[in-house]
Amino acid sequence: MQIDLTHPEFQAAIPLMQRIEAAGYEAYFVGGAVRDAMLGLPPHDVDIASSAYPAEIKQIFPKTVDTGIQHGTVMVLSHGKGYEVTTFRTESGYQDFRRPDHVTFVRSLEEDLRRRDFTVNALAVRHDGTVVDLFDGLTDLHDHVLRAVGNPHERFHEDALRMMRAVRFQSQLGFAIEPATLAAITDNAPLLAHVSVERIASEFTRLMLGLDRQAGLTNFIATGLFAHTPLLADQRRGLEQLAALPTTPLVDPAVAWTLIAHLLQLPVRRLMKAWKQANALADQVARAADLLAALPNPTPWQLYAAGADAVPVAATAWAMLNPAETAESPTQAYAALPIHAKDELAVTGADLMAAGFTPGPRLGRVLHALEQAVVAGELANTSEALMTAAQK
Ligand code: ATP
Ligand code: MG
Repeated sequence: MQIDLTHPEFQAAIPLMQRIEAAGYEAYFVGGAVRDAMLGLPPHDVDIASSAYPAEIKQIFPKTVDTGIQHGTVMVLSHGKGYEVTTFRTESGYQDFRRPDHVTFVRSLEEDLRRRDFTVNALAVRHDGTVVDLFDGLTDLHDHVLRAVGNPHERFHEDALRMMRAVRFQSQLGFAIEPATLAAITDNAPLLAHVSVERIASEFTRLMLGLDRQAGLTNFIATGLFAHTPLLADQRRGLEQLAALPTTPLVDPAVAWTLIAHLLQLPVRRLMKAWKQANALADQVARAADLLAALPNPTPWQLYAAGADAVPVAATAWAMLNPAETAESPTQAYAALPIHAKDELAVTGADLMAAGFTPGPRLGRVLHALEQAVVAGELANTSEALMTAAQK
């Protein structure tokens, strides 16, 4: 079996692999890029696995960066680009159902492929396009099936995150989870409690942004995985509603979290904190959720308070929740507001002080009242109109 490596991402990396081979070691393309290329999808982050140890890779290439040296990953810099080369390795330990205690570098490709999660992720390709398929990954790729490499129970005991990866890939690739693998997820779902929230959240977000979100969510619920994630344990009904939304693909995590907070009736800050999401995202989602609750007829102030980054998020969420209805576009209504930020007001605190106002809370209240009146369209945003209003 040969694979087409004409994509420039692969082509650019081939000379590197040839140099590794010329030095007497093996080198293969592995992971998602191989899988995606076979599916006719453009590869992203092309990963190279090699029998050369990190120190040996560094001898071959003059310019490298230790990006993940403890896992055996060295970034080789070439033509202004970086290529991750990871030494073949096995993992052992796994005493706490997450990540191995030890990573051991090995010279055998087979051992490296054996520790990978799913057969479709365990293919390796040589620079001439020859495919190494030790676990029938090509058949599963053809059939669109996700199957654990080896014994699924053992594999999920080693690293419980793989169960979340299964539903994530189901959504991302539109593949089905093979029955024994699915049964093992159902049996072992409670082990997810041992995995860090950050790792769970990363897979869950990718599930939400996948093309077959419905299928991924359906199994996230059916296997009981949801019950071992932050705040979702008693949210089966809300999650079922989430899974039943129109299949519109989501491109923005903010929309995903806004829908979740809304359907599950969870306070945004609490939800986002429990899932360890960035403060900036939590802030945006909190404003989007507030606006969503006010749609389809928000006041100008509600639109203004949401802000430019949250208005389209709320609009998208609303359209998914109300597929049969049409409403004035909140994005257009927002664009039509007289001002979009406080610093667009025609007077400043300094202007008011120059006109005789004393600094203090009262000044703040006056400015806020002017801001509200301008946003509501009750007052023209000119210094004259605002000064006159302020004097009153
Ligand atoms: P994508 O890049 O689209 O997310 P991917 O398959 O490349 O998909 P990565 O998370 O980048 O996913 O991992 C790269 C490869 O490393 C996988 O294809 C798989 O072979 C292996 N892998 C990653 N995480 C695990 C894990 N938890 N257990 C076993 N193998 C894993
Ligand atoms: Mg990848």
